[in-house]
Amino acid sequence: MAGAKGKIIERFTHLSHRKVRKIYKALRRTAPPSGPVMQGSARYFARPSKRTPTEWSIQCAIFLACYERMSKITTMPVQRGWLLLAAFNSYLSLTEKLYETTSVKRLDINQAYALLSYCGFMTMSSGAKLQRRQCPNCSINYPVVADEDLDTQPCPVCTLNAKFGGASRRGWPSENEDIARQTQ
Ligand SMILES: [Zn+2]
Repeated sequence: MAGAKGKIIERFTHLSHRKVRKIYKALRRTAPPSGPVMQGSARYFARPSKRTPTEWSIQCAIFLACYERMSKITTMPVQRGWLLLAAFNSYLSLTEKLYETTSVKRLDINQAYALLSYCGFMTMSSGAKLQRRQCPNCSINYPVVADEDLDTQPCPVCTLNAKFGGASRRGWPSENEDIARQTQ
């Protein structure tokens, strides 16, 4: 019902390709989206570009936070397909207001799956292409490309705050300057 690609549903349900198509058509009156489960590149989820504004990186950070929290709701092993769907639904409800009032682009469930895979959540293998870094300023965790210079991958929230002249939660340049002046 969330619009996942047929291959992702097959992977988590162990149902055959034919069976997934049949059930999908019965439920949604259309064939499941086809194509490879991995789309885009790791950079697509972490490095702002013309196609992916800074807001996109924030969306990725929000979804990853949803997934991580959802995975901690129980110490019992949880089916990963269920976890993906539960995290995705909580991400949708968290971002609903923003989505309705702005033109912000949200992840679809297939992008969410690819993002988790690039972060190593789906395979648990080491050497994931994306890692999460905690911003020392506002404390959010955001995805960064593991083998690229961290200095060139600033926190998306602080980047937006700086752009719009806002303040992050703990200190920003003008306040730091004031503090520095007072302590001289
Ligand atoms: Zn920050």
